[in-house]
This record gives sequence, C-alpha cells and structure tokens, in this order.
Amino acid sequence: MNNKEYMLDPGITPNERFKTSVVEPEFWRKKKLEQMTKTEWELLCDGCGKCCLNKIEIKGKIKFTNTRCRFLDCQSCLCKIYPHRFEKVPDCRDIDLVAIREKPRWLPKTCAYWLLDNGFDLPPWHPLITGRAASVHEAGMSLKNRNTISESGISDYENYLIDWEDL
Ligand code: SF4
Ligand code: SF4
Repeated sequence: MNNKEYMLDPGITPNERFKTSVVEPEFWRKKKLEQMTKTEWELLCDGCGKCCLNKIEIKGKIKFTNTRCRFLDCQSCLCKIYPHRFEKVPDCRDIDLVAIREKPRWLPKTCAYWLLDNGFDLPPWHPLITGRAASVHEAGMSLKNRNTISESGISDYENYLIDWEDL
C-alpha cells in the first residue's frame, strides 16, 4: 500500500520526487490530513513497506507476520505493480482516512499517516525531514535488509508472527 506518485512515472526517482515537489514548507505541521493536496498526501508516505506485510487478527488485535505481499520489492520496499495493485491483489488497501483510523490499528506505529492523525510529529528519519528517500532505510525503519519472506505458497500465517518494536 505504498502511496507513491513517482511509482506511476518510472522516469522519476524517489530523490527527484522530494527535490521537485513544490509544497508548502512543513505543510504536515500546518494542515490536517483532510486538508492536504494529493501531492502532500503522497509525500507523507515514507516508503517503509511495512503496511505490505501480511497480518492476522488474534483476539481483537492485529498481529504482523514477516511474510510480505508477493508484489513488494523487498529491497526498494516499493510495490512492483503499483498502478494495477487493486486489480491484482483484492485485499490491497488504499491508504485513506478510513484505513488510517480503523480499529484495531493495522498500520505500523511508524506510519506517517497514523502518527500525524494521532497528534505526533514526523520522525527525524522521515524523507520529508531529511530530504532524501533513502533515510528511512538508513534508519532501519523500512523492510530493507530485514528477514521477510514472500507470501507465495504460505497459508499458515500464524507460524510467521513477529513482534518488531516498530510495528
Ligand atoms: S499490491 Fe502488495 S506490494 Fe503492492 S501496495 Fe498492495 S500490498 Fe503492497
Ligand atoms: S506504512 Fe505508511 S508510511 Fe509506510 S509504506 Fe505504508 S503507507 Fe507508507
């Protein structure tokens, strides 16, 4: 569920996206999510990829597994089929206000949308703060270099539960 405008234009790299996007400085401190433009909304996504992990609900709580959607590139943490994701993956979720406010919470606690909607600021490693898309990976906050496996062929998700601090 990576909301990345640049995924729609393969000619634009993540770093160019941050450099060329014309937005009000620190817009996330001045506007509510409801007031943001499409560009602002999409810039909020830090590209962590953690929302693309499979999850199961146990006793009213969402538990994450280390199995990832088969269409997630585990190094770039980007969706390989972004423009067609809803056709190919029926349970792929759009990140909208309903998804952000859903209970039990299913977005990771580092997700920028969830943080802002719950009164927190963006973390110091967020690409909007650093100006570089790679800072989420360098801070170890994305799925890059983590022990995840593709969901292909897996059905016993309860055997893949994880308890990472940033979920
Ligand atoms: S299709 Fe899979 S990888 Fe792509 S956004 Fe949806 S859950 Fe993530
Ligand atoms: S968890 Fe939130 S910030 Fe991370 S990729 Fe998903 S939508 Fe973007």
